[in-house]
Amino acid sequence: MRAPLMLGLALLLASVPAHAQKVAPDTTDQGPEIPKAQVTIELDGGTKATCNEHAAQPFLIRKNWFARQKEKDGNAFANESLKKAIDYRTEKYGHFPGYGDGRLNKFAPAHYAKSVSFMGLTLQVNERIIPALKCVEAALKATKVGDEYHPRSIGGIRFKNTYRGSEISNHVYGIAIDIESDRNTCCSCVDPWPNHPLCKKKVASIYERMAMPRSWVVVFERYGFYWLGHDALQDTMHFEYLGDPDKILKGKSDEG
Ligand SMILES: [Zn+2]
Repeated sequence: MRAPLMLGLALLLASVPAHAQKVAPDTTDQGPEIPKAQVTIELDGGTKATCNEHAAQPFLIRKNWFARQKEKDGNAFANESLKKAIDYRTEKYGHFPGYGDGRLNKFAPAHYAKSVSFMGLTLQVNERIIPALKCVEAALKATKVGDEYHPRSIGGIRFKNTYRGSEISNHVYGIAIDIESDRNTCCSCVDPWPNHPLCKKKVASIYERMAMPRSWVVVFERYGFYWLGHDALQDTMHFEYLGDPDKILKGKSDEG
């Protein structure tokens, strides 16, 4: 009796899909308060501008439209939301062939690609988000949060879409960055990620599955970046700028 039971149990364990064993990501942003600082950046030409704290725009956050997919008309809502988000990104950041309406922007995102340094590393991003990245850097330095972590690599714009299906990665618009993609995990991404030791480990929070500290996530999110660690993908290396680029600096079109 005992042997067949053990075998049955072993088979059952072996057939549990990997995602079912995962601990739900900590999306609560609880934890110690991360210091704030009023920061300024220097623009081309030498003038100084004050950074404006602002959040990612909800209609651009992929979780917000896929979360409703199981509801009645959820798929239609997701498709409509995706289209709206692509149109917005096309207009602001460039038209990526095959996605969205080319009449909204005659240039490809590559037209706006520019090199920038961030915490001693160089990457290429869409020039429209450079001030936001510079604000994050200034805040990391002013609050000493920057001393808590020293990434050795970083990536920005890509010229190929890495998502499957109708979705498009924010990397092609030059508004997404990956920080140390070998040490900050993406546990629900394609193989071999799910087998990474940090993805197999039992954790209380997703912040234990990466080298980057939570404090960096908090600082990035103060300047319009959305962290994909909050997403079902658990892509902890990835930030995307989903704020309004006209709100990055004070006194531009917004005094807030
Ligand atoms: Zn990424």
